[in-house]
Amino acid sequence: MRELKDLVRPNIWKLSPYSSARDEYSGHDAHVFLDANENPYNQPYNRYPDPLQRELKSVIAKIKGVREQQIFLGNGSDEAIDLVYRCFTRPGIDNVVAIDPTYGMYKVCADINDVEYRPVRLDSNFHMSANKMLAACDIHTKVIWICSPNNPSGNQIDRDEIEKILTSFDGIVVIDEAYSDFSKAKPFRQEIRLNPRLIVLNTMSKAWGCAAIRLGMAFANETIIALFNKVKYPYNINQLTQERALELLRNPYEVEKWVNLLLQERSHMTDAFRMLPICQKVYPTDANFFLARMTDAQSIYDYLIEKGIIVRNRNRVTLCENCLRITIGTKTENGQLLAALRQYE
Ligand SMILES: *Cc1c(COP(=O)(O)O)cnc(C)c1O
Repeated sequence: MRELKDLVRPNIWKLSPYSSARDEYSGHDAHVFLDANENPYNQPYNRYPDPLQRELKSVIAKIKGVREQQIFLGNGSDEAIDLVYRCFTRPGIDNVVAIDPTYGMYKVCADINDVEYRPVRLDSNFHMSANKMLAACDIHTKVIWICSPNNPSGNQIDRDEIEKILTSFDGIVVIDEAYSDFSKAKPFRQEIRLNPRLIVLNTMSKAWGCAAIRLGMAFANETIIALFNKVKYPYNINQLTQERALELLRNPYEVEKWVNLLLQERSHMTDAFRMLPICQKVYPTDANFFLARMTDAQSIYDYLIEKGIIVRNRNRVTLCENCLRITIGTKTENGQLLAALRQYE
């Protein structure tokens, strides 16, 4: 059984991080700041932001039911994804295993970091087999990537199969729950206390309606979060993002309203798609989008672009031949898509 220390890249385990001016005085009351070479004018944006985003984390901790020390905040989830590679995988030596198809950034970051990426095909209904995943692992497999609800298929990955991986695999397991706010399933972030090698990803970009401010989250055991904090850029979340996120997080009822509206619209849209002669199958979804198998995805996609309507063409993705991925929009936007598709011939 590998310990956490055996999973971390030795240079990262040993790394002494950059110590910022603001880290060094902490614990004292101060009112004259002549330590960071900032300009005293142009308040409040003249000052460096809190490198550990403490105020923001205290609000997120309450909403997500985890401790502040179990939260990492990144410039989108993409920063956390990249940090997983930079902390755990040695370029040219280690590998990772991931469900296929899934979110494209896991592979892009593997390629950037020169780490072998081992995709393991889901079955034709996008279900994962834990045994198949485990069979793809060897002694150099550091990380297993699971996305649930999965992108682009939309379905929740079977909980029993995920738990089998959690108990049988002695490396890092990442579960990306970017879409969990749209699902009734119990989120895995509540399991981080029990599992020191589990990392769960969340984002402000989907249900929280904040893709523009770039704020992603990773929840994990304190030791893993401390590693991420050591490796990240010191001021990775800017002041404007921290402020805007605080405002939004103080108003979670708005988000609940959006989610309910989108779920209603989703059920209306999937029903309507099933009635379209050019739609062959609508896959079950737990997210704010759905995957639909069409008669000819490429030409329908091109036709929609002509009409100024953009959907995601997944035609060339594993198991997604002739599939379009449709995000749920406003009632008006969804209506425009349906009207265009009803005129397609
Ligand atoms: C959209 C999405 C994200 C969000 O990424 P951000 O960088 O936080 O915007 C993460 N994971 C998956 C699977 C997604 O589909």
